[in-house]
Amino acid sequence: MRAVIMHAPGDVRVEEREDPRIIDPTDAIIRLTATCICGSDLWPYRGADQPDHQHMGHEYVGVVDEVGSAVETLEVGDFVVGSFVISCGTCEICRAGHQSRCVNAVFVDGAIGTQAERARIPFADGTLVATPGQPDAALIPSLLAASDVLGTGWFAADAAQAGPGRIVAVVGDGAVGLMGVLAAQQMGAERIIVVSRHADRQALAREYGATDIIEERGDEGVARLKELTDGLGAHSTIEAVGSQESMMQAIRSTRPGGSVGFVGVSHDVQIPGDELFFSAVHLHGGPAPVRRYLPELIQLIWDRVIDPGKVFDLILPLADAAEGYRAMDERRATKVLLTL
Ligand SMILES: [Zn+2]
Ligand SMILES: [Zn+2]
Repeated sequence: MRAVIMHAPGDVRVEEREDPRIIDPTDAIIRLTATCICGSDLWPYRGADQPDHQHMGHEYVGVVDEVGSAVETLEVGDFVVGSFVISCGTCEICRAGHQSRCVNAVFVDGAIGTQAERARIPFADGTLVATPGQPDAALIPSLLAASDVLGTGWFAADAAQAGPGRIVAVVGDGAVGLMGVLAAQQMGAERIIVVSRHADRQALAREYGATDIIEERGDEGVARLKELTDGLGAHSTIEAVGSQESMMQAIRSTRPGGSVGFVGVSHDVQIPGDELFFSAVHLHGGPAPVRRYLPELIQLIWDRVIDPGKVFDLILPLADAAEGYRAMDERRATKVLLTL
């Protein structure tokens, strides 16, 4: 089968790899229908992490091709959406809803790599969710978004306690930030303030429910947000970048007693303890337990209540993955869908 391999920063190739096969009885083999490139794939691409022949990709939808003897909830032919973290579904951490930190967790990126024609998914029952039937082609981008960016944005909004009467701030206008806007709106937020400098992303943010846009970053962005909120700050802040500047902007944008949901993959973020102490904010985040939300998100997409698939603004065949990475790196695309 063909798969995307990152040999070194900036060096992405589509190459032949051995076909996956069932190893454990809880495995399923899926044939990918669509996959995509993630903002987090840009960290190794730009050399912030050191990739060495890494199997890329962790977002995926597809059709079950084969199941192990212990798989109970899935059948060959089912259309499935999976999380970017493999989870057993039965340990205490999974049962409490924190599947991305399952005691048996495996990150799909690297270990499996779903920018590929096929993939072996361990703990299939705990990781995959079947859709109510075979989806129309028009629903595929939205279902694919549920696999990570929507699930992650949803978790961030939930962790930030977005809801009726709440002012939500979103730091980061990448795909996850935009999905955080959509989630906050679905959860009934009163006002959604997005930090963004890109006209096209501002437009999509408004379509998804943003009421205000802030172009300033860092402490200037905090000052602007305070002006918009009677000097108090947001009740709920979504951090969707993972840098020192964005994390501190998120914490400083949040009023005392408010909550920050942080889902940008942290890169060398250091939070000063004294500032955290006096901020009096709640912090909850990390890799999103997407599996917790998948049944609900799939249903909202199936019923055409939400349309997260608009976040994909470039569609390419898997063979052109290298161009997809370039387009995202150069910000010519927010998120690239790869067809198979
Ligand atoms: Zn991702
Ligand atoms: Zn588990």
